[in-house]
Amino acid sequence: MEPARTAADGRRVRALFVSDLHLDQVRPQITERFLAFLREEAVGVPALYIPGDLFEAWIGDDDDAELPAQVAGALRAVADSGTRVAFLRGNRDFLVGQDYAARAGFSILPDPCMIASGGEPILLLHGDLLCWDDEKYLAVRRQVRDPDWQRALLARPLAERRAFAQAARQSSAAHQQSMALDVGDAAPRAVEDFFRRYGVTRMIHGHTHRPAVHELAVDGVPRQRIVLGDWYEQGSVLRLYEDGGIELAGLPLPD
Ligand code: MN
Repeated sequence: MEPARTAADGRRVRALFVSDLHLDQVRPQITERFLAFLREEAVGVPALYIPGDLFEAWIGDDDDAELPAQVAGALRAVADSGTRVAFLRGNRDFLVGQDYAARAGFSILPDPCMIASGGEPILLLHGDLLCWDDEKYLAVRRQVRDPDWQRALLARPLAERRAFAQAARQSSAAHQQSMALDVGDAAPRAVEDFFRRYGVTRMIHGHTHRPAVHELAVDGVPRQRIVLGDWYEQGSVLRLYEDGGIELAGLPLPD
């Protein structure tokens, strides 16, 4: 196995985090950028975490389209390099299941979950659970996470599920509504509650498409909330170094 990649300044990467790629066949340049990121940066690092919305939509692990197969192959190559690849379901790809995970070589972690990185406990979550102010969304979330609802949906023929997803994409009203689900911000009292409940000083999430490193204090203890960026205009990655340092970086698209 290759040694972990080092950054330009010689620091060793302990883990990489990417979320909200919203991979979709209609945006091939983003898929290409992600595949390049996997080849050039993720291969050989100790861990790659993908906390949700890797895909714009997911109609089931039995989808035989080209995009999921291509991404599974690329992720599998990263896993084969010795990198631990872990995924959390987002609000777009909440139907990703164990069949696809096995093919792509990643494990599915619960949302939220605690990860131990070099002995440091970090709370990792997609981020939609922090959007307490959007009651309508939270009601939708409860419905689509219901196992019976999911079983009924996945029991529909693949062609029917595909047509449904296509219709949703083409209907501008549905699209606007679906986009609106991503624009809510984390509620400050939810952030405090999660820090308190899990007793951590560092939290990493995506979903809000508001990349930032927030320094705050909860109960007098300094805490850090890192928000990952989306992959619309460019890629976005969080690098966590062995010395505990972090770097939230944009990944420009080729011209
Ligand atoms: Mn999301």
